[in-house]
Amino acid sequence: MQRTLNKPVCLEGFGFWRCDDVVVTLNPADPDTGIVFIRDDVPSAPPIPAKLENRIAVERRTSLGIQKDGQTVVQVDMVEHLMAALFAAGITNCCVRVNAQELPALDGSALPYVEAVNSVGTVDQPGERIQKRVTQSIRVGTDKSYLEVEPPKPEDLTSTIRYELNYPHCPDIGKQEFSTELVPESLQKEVAPARTFATQDEARALQSAGLCQRVTTQNCLVFTGKGALDNQLRFPNECARHKVLDFTGDFYLGGIEWIGRFHGVGSGHALNSQLLEKLLLSVTRRQE
Ligand SMILES: [Zn+2]
Repeated sequence: MQRTLNKPVCLEGFGFWRCDDVVVTLNPADPDTGIVFIRDDVPSAPPIPAKLENRIAVERRTSLGIQKDGQTVVQVDMVEHLMAALFAAGITNCCVRVNAQELPALDGSALPYVEAVNSVGTVDQPGERIQKRVTQSIRVGTDKSYLEVEPPKPEDLTSTIRYELNYPHCPDIGKQEFSTELVPESLQKEVAPARTFATQDEARALQSAGLCQRVTTQNCLVFTGKGALDNQLRFPNECARHKVLDFTGDFYLGGIEWIGRFHGVGSGHALNSQLLEKLLLSVTRRQE
């Protein structure tokens, strides 16, 4: 079954990086539309399908854009938390309209998106949701930081991920691990509420570079070495959970639910997209 929203729902806020005010509306869409972004502030902007081939490599976040003659004609930034929420809600078709380049930071997690979707409800639609079983082990990254997947056992109907994080230079993040099954209930309750984080040094460096000027300790967990500044953790391993949130959002570019056993060690957006690319290639090769 495919799935969309029951009716439109709107969220407002400001962008984490660029800090512009933004309104985002999640609209129902027809079967087989997939997830598509439309920039209402750019006249005659082409829609941006949420697909890996439209990913633009940027630091520390996931951006999508349409390129023409080597130039980006339209772009939307920071899509991963919304993508994670749509995946967690099983939404396969949605037209996302935004009036600025960057989606809102909200509380730094995907929870406000999940709550917005749940507030209007979803409707099942005719058509298959694309599911693919991983058929070979693939690993990307280095010895220190990598992401790998193994084929599922024959009895596995869903995916699992085990994620390990190590911040020896910031003891209040330190070593963390989180494992989960990638199913709606766990994703909505155990993963979506986990917030973006940074060390205090990283946060200071970004703000002195003129970025993230409106971001406070309420949009991003800032770790001082002695705990999260002006905030309470939602989970002791909230940082590892947030990395899983980013992973699910990045992996939903392509609109496929992969069934496999994932394992990440210090991996992030770049390795997420490298592994997804290899998986997509492995599928194409099998079809040839
Ligand atoms: Zn994130």
